[in-house]
Amino acid sequence: MTIYHFEVVPFRAIKTVKCSGCRKTLRRAKTFDQTINPYNRLLNGQVKNRKDILAELRLEAAVWMREGEICLPCLNKAKP
Ligand SMILES: [Zn+2]
Repeated sequence: MTIYHFEVVPFRAIKTVKCSGCRKTLRRAKTFDQTINPYNRLLNGQVKNRKDILAELRLEAAVWMREGEICLPCLNKAKP
């Protein structure tokens, strides 16, 4: 079996948000990625290039940036 190594395009996002429970400032980081491969195509059928992928990752990251976060102590408190 042939193993193909596709190029990974990563996009790292960092956000600072207030915990939705105690309002403590939280810093969160997340890496979004996609690989450049023959099956990763745009709606028009073209294989996505680095630029296409980064544009999508940026959108994904923007959604994540708007999401609220909760700190671990608040999360544990919320458990029954
Ligand atoms: Zn909290």
